[in-house]
Amino acid sequence: MQWPEAMVYSGANMRPVSSWGRLGAEPHDVVELTDRAAVAGAVTGRTGIAHGLGRSYGDACLNPGGLLWRTAGLDRLISFDATTGRLVCEAGVVLRDISRLMIPRGWNLAVVPGTQWVTVGGAIANDVHGKNHHVVGTFGEHVRRLRLARTTGETIDCGPDERPELFKATIGGLGLTGLIIEVELQLRPTGGPWLDAETVPFSGLPDFFALSDESEAAWEHTVSWIDCTSGSVRGLFMRARPSDRSGRPWRDRMRRVPLTPPVSMVNGLSLKPFNALYYALGRRKSGVQVVHYERFLFPLDSVLEWNRLYGPNGFYQYQSVVPRAAALEATRDMLTAIARSGEGSFLAVLKTFAERPAAGLLSFPRGGVTLALDFRNSRTLPALFSRLDDIVRGAGGRLYPAKDARMPREFYQATYPDLGAFTARRDPGMSSGMSRRLMGF
Ligand SMILES: Cc1cc2nc3c(=O)[nH]c(=O)nc-3n(C[C@H](O)[C@H](O)[C@H](O)COP(=O)(O)OP(=O)(O)OC[C@H]3O[C@@H](n4cnc5c(N)ncnc54)[C@H](O)[C@@H]3O)c2cc1C
Repeated sequence: MQWPEAMVYSGANMRPVSSWGRLGAEPHDVVELTDRAAVAGAVTGRTGIAHGLGRSYGDACLNPGGLLWRTAGLDRLISFDATTGRLVCEAGVVLRDISRLMIPRGWNLAVVPGTQWVTVGGAIANDVHGKNHHVVGTFGEHVRRLRLARTTGETIDCGPDERPELFKATIGGLGLTGLIIEVELQLRPTGGPWLDAETVPFSGLPDFFALSDESEAAWEHTVSWIDCTSGSVRGLFMRARPSDRSGRPWRDRMRRVPLTPPVSMVNGLSLKPFNALYYALGRRKSGVQVVHYERFLFPLDSVLEWNRLYGPNGFYQYQSVVPRAAALEATRDMLTAIARSGEGSFLAVLKTFAERPAAGLLSFPRGGVTLALDFRNSRTLPALFSRLDDIVRGAGGRLYPAKDARMPREFYQATYPDLGAFTARRDPGMSSGMSRRLMGF
C-alpha cells in the first residue's frame, strides 16, 4: 500500500523530539509506522531515519529538521515455534513484552541491555550487549533473519546465510542500511524469572579484574558499579545466575519522575553522599539472594523518566571499551581524570567483554573492559571528554555510538576500521544527526 503523500512528508507532523540524554528537542517530521505492509511505501524515495523508543542517548535516533519514522507501532508478534524457540516479530516490539510473554513459556531473549524499554529494531541497530556478554555475546548473534525496507524501493530479506554482507552491515548499522520491518530471533531456554544474585564489595581495580575472572565461568551475569567520587577505586561487583528457587512474590512497582527540575539534581553536592550511601548499602548485602530478573537486570527501569533528574540541559553518557591488556592503566587514568575534573557520575559501570567475533561491521563490543559514566551537561565537559578520548584512543579503544552525542568524526573513523565496507552497503536515503556528524552524510 502506498501512503498518501500528505501523511508521508507534509511537515504537518513537525514536533520536537529528543533522545534519552535530553540534550535538545529539535523539530522532526514524525511519521508513525503501524502497518508492516505499508513500510516500504512509506520509506521509498524519502530521506530519514528510524526511531524506536529513543533510548539512545544522543543523535543516532534523531534527524533534526527531517523525517523520523517511529516504529513503536510495529508491535506485532507474527509467529512462535515453542519447540525451537524461534520468534518472528515486527521490529517495534519492545523487549520487555517479549520477556514477559516468553518466560512463562520457558524461553527468553538471549541478550537484554540495561533497560527493557528498547525495541527489537533498536537492539539490532546498536547490536546491544547485556550483563551476560561473556556467555552469549551481543543481540545480533541471535538474529536469524530480518526484512529491510530500503528507500530505493527494495524489500530485502537477509540473515547469516542470506545476503550475509548486508546482514553484517545492518547488525550495529545505526539504522543506516534500511528500515527493519520484521525479524526472526532465536530465543534461549530459561527455567523461570528468578536469579541467584550476589553483591561483592571490592577495592581497587586489580580486585575488580580478579572478581571478573573468577566469576565468569560460573555466573551468567556480571557487572559492577564503581564510586568514581571517592578518590580511590571502590565498588560493588554484582553477579547472578539462573536459580531453581523462587523468590518472594514480585510486584512491578514503577515510579515516575514527575517533572524536570529547573537545575540538575546530580551535582557536586549530591554526588558524593549518594555514592557513599549506595556503597554502604551494597556492602550490607551479604550472601546469595534470590531476586527477580527484572530487579537485577533493569534496576533503573523502576523509575520512569529518571533522565529528567539531570535538569533542562540534559546529560551525556561516555561509554568506552579498551582492550584487556591496556585496561588497568586506561581505566585508572580515566577515573583519575574524572575525579580531578570534579565531574562525577551516579551511574558508573564497569564490565568485561569477552573476546568473540563481532556480529556486525560497526558493532561496539570487543574483548576488553567497558566503562560507562553519566555526566550532567556542563561547560567543563568538553575538556574532560577530550582528555578521556586521548586515554581511550591511546589504549586502542573506542566509544559506543548508542551513548554518544559528541565524539569527533576523526576519532570515530579511526576506531571503527570496517566503516569503508559498511558505507558501501548503506541505504542512500537513510541519514541521521549522528551519520552526518560522524560519517559526513
Ligand atoms: C537506562 C539505559 C540503559 C542502557 N543499557 C544498555 C546496555 O546495557 N547495553 C547496551 O548495549 N545498550 C544499552 N542502552 C542503550 C540502548 O539499548 C540502545 O540505545 C538501543 O538501541 C535503544 O533502542 P530503541 O528502541 O530506543 O532505539 P532508538 O534509540 O530509537 O534507535 C537506536 C538506533 O536504532 C535504529 N532503529 C530503531 N528502529 C529501527 C528499525 N526498525 N530499523 C532500522 N533501524 C532502527 C535507529 O535509527 C537508531 O540508529 C541503554 C539505554 C538506556 C536508556
